[in-house]
Amino acid sequence: MGFKIYLAKPRGFCAGVERAIEILNLALKKFGSPIYVRHAIVHNERVVSEFEKKGVKFVEEVEHVPEGSILIFSAHGVSPDVRKIAENRNLRIIDATCPLVTKVHLEAKNYAKGNYTILLIGHKNHVETQGTMGEAPDRIIVIESEEDIKKVENRNLKKIAVITQTTLSVDDTKEIVERIKKRFENVEKPKADDICYATQNRQDAVKKISPFVDIFLIIGSKESSNSNRLKEIAEKYGTKAYLINDKNEIPLEEIKNASAIGITSGASTPEELVQEIIGELKSMGGEEIIEMEGTEEKIKFQLPPDLE
Ligand code: SF4
Repeated sequence: MGFKIYLAKPRGFCAGVERAIEILNLALKKFGSPIYVRHAIVHNERVVSEFEKKGVKFVEEVEHVPEGSILIFSAHGVSPDVRKIAENRNLRIIDATCPLVTKVHLEAKNYAKGNYTILLIGHKNHVETQGTMGEAPDRIIVIESEEDIKKVENRNLKKIAVITQTTLSVDDTKEIVERIKKRFENVEKPKADDICYATQNRQDAVKKISPFVDIFLIIGSKESSNSNRLKEIAEKYGTKAYLINDKNEIPLEEIKNASAIGITSGASTPEELVQEIIGELKSMGGEEIIEMEGTEEKIKFQLPPDLE
């Protein structure tokens, strides 16, 4: 029996990921390989392996980059310590940090200067949160869950500011912020949300499709924070969801019993992976493809001046 495919819009690359990939491509063109990148340029295996084929070397420790090399910081940003180590190694640095991550770093710095205790809502092990933490390690407390709020609830904190990782669940974060506000008076928050436009739009698109589908395929890497959140949101809306890297991970048994399948992709997932999966689903009985209406994204970030 055939099934319908509901395609989320927007999905896939955000402006920060597009910029980071363009920076790396332009750097390759300008300087040739090898080029070193601190961490995966964006969290997607296909993107990383394509760049490896072109001579890009991905490292976690800047100390492993030979002196005098070209080093690109990934879209997730780095702490001031990492930046300093890179500068001391006489590396030519090109910064592909997403400007919306940089915005959160600046907020952390400013609140720290104002002697705030900063509650940073985010995932402790995520590279973006670690980078932001590094801006004011003595002033920042990472809040990963409601449990973490309990640890600070009894402390006599006077000036509190709340900032967040850019790729969190909008709804869960709202709940955590509300709880912090209930406990503490005068909680400061940045004027504009830290959860970025791309994260918000992709989550809204999943919410829109969930009522129509039996299962949701979220195409993205297991490391990708925003992709994981999309899976959680589909599940929260009552849809069984799978986070899959590529067509080899399509849950075949589940597809057999579905009459409608939702598809979306994380902000670091190339559209070619989505199209490969749609092609595979068509060969398995996917008949009608319905692309839902969604927010048009027109944001484009400037490139670093020496690469424009
Ligand atoms: S998901 Fe948001 S913060 Fe992350 S790179 Fe994309 S636009 Fe920037």
